[in-house]
Amino acid sequence: MEQVERLLGGRTRDIRLNGDLARLFRERSWPQTAKIIRAWMIWVIVLDVLTLGLYAILLPTQTVVTMLWPASLLPPAALVAAMVFLRPHALWLQGVIILSAVFLILLSVALVGVHAGGEFYERHLTIMLFVAVTAIIIFPIPLGWAIAISAFALGIYFVFQLHNPNIEVGSALAGTLFFASGVVATIVARRTATILAHKTFLLELRDRSRLAELTDANSQLELLARTDPLTGVANRRSMMETLHHFWNADLKQTSGAAMLMCDVDDFKRLNDNLGHAEGDRCLVKVAGIIQSSMRDERDQVARYGGEEFLVFLPGADEQEARVIAERIRNRVEAASLPNPTSRVVPYVTVSIGVAILMQDCGLVSAEQLQRQADAALYLAKKAGRNCLVVHTPETDQAPD
Ligand code: GH3
Ligand code: MG
Ligand code: MG
Repeated sequence: MEQVERLLGGRTRDIRLNGDLARLFRERSWPQTAKIIRAWMIWVIVLDVLTLGLYAILLPTQTVVTMLWPASLLPPAALVAAMVFLRPHALWLQGVIILSAVFLILLSVALVGVHAGGEFYERHLTIMLFVAVTAIIIFPIPLGWAIAISAFALGIYFVFQLHNPNIEVGSALAGTLFFASGVVATIVARRTATILAHKTFLLELRDRSRLAELTDANSQLELLARTDPLTGVANRRSMMETLHHFWNADLKQTSGAAMLMCDVDDFKRLNDNLGHAEGDRCLVKVAGIIQSSMRDERDQVARYGGEEFLVFLPGADEQEARVIAERIRNRVEAASLPNPTSRVVPYVTVSIGVAILMQDCGLVSAEQLQRQADAALYLAKKAGRNCLVVHTPETDQAPD
């Protein structure tokens, strides 16, 4: 990407693709390049056959016969090139094939005129130059190849004009120089077109990379927006989304759900006693323990408030919810994280309120279930902490 930025930062006319970028460009542009080359090859075959057919009708048979063998050079050469460009090959092979084919094609067009002689001599040399110019202009090929094609064309022109009985050497040279100036202009046009194609390719690469970066940053942001920065578990917003989605989409297909409201016991005392930083470390550890107590990725843990964690267990019944709640309670206690002045034990413990959503109680909303878990938690605190209480209709009377 650095190379792309550097090339786009400089002047357009200085754009050169090297190494991987050049390879990537060739790969991307291959289908179009191959299509253009194949179409051109077919075009010259059709032109060759049509010209010969027309000559056969209009000219004396003897003249047409002299044109026959040089004209028959062209179709096989063009056809082989068209076939080779059906599939990608090594760059050198493409170069060899295209340059050989173009050379034979140009030679064939020139020889048709040279053999027929007279007015056809120079006319076919000019047609040959025209054919070369169309190739240089429309083939998206490296500059070196285009220069080679123009050298073939001008070479063939010059050599045959030297042997043209109707003109002087000086005239042959002047004609070649005249056409050379035109061919040079097409080479320059080819170079400009190639540079512009390279630039478009680089701009496309940059766009793609920026889009990928943006998408990446977006998903990063989205993740951050759903994560509690201290503990790394989901935050309240993320839990709300989960619940909303469950109640709207999954509730009908699952057999109920359970919610656990877990609250660290006497956490204020831990903070007061060991400091806020230690309190933070304790929260991180408790979050980890709760997370590791889940059944699988369906279950979600969220930090709901300061030292409160809400656990959502889709599809869980009371028994399953009890097992998981007890596992959390037990593991937190077993971790023996110090809370010296806790009224329960000198270690960190949690109290858990459990609320169960029965499959046939579809009328209970997520908020109600949460309130039930809160009410059960209140009772767990009242019952001496470090325990779990499952909500029953009777616990509803308890204040929040
Ligand atoms: P209980 O057993 O009844 O739950 O008592 P408690 O002390 O845990 O409950 P209380 O609600 O009185 O205190 C919660 C404390 O949690 C108060 C607050 O300072 C602390 N707290 C809230 N958020 C954070 C936090 O992000 N980091 C730390 N270290 N403490 C926090
Ligand atoms: Mg609390
Ligand atoms: Mg607490």
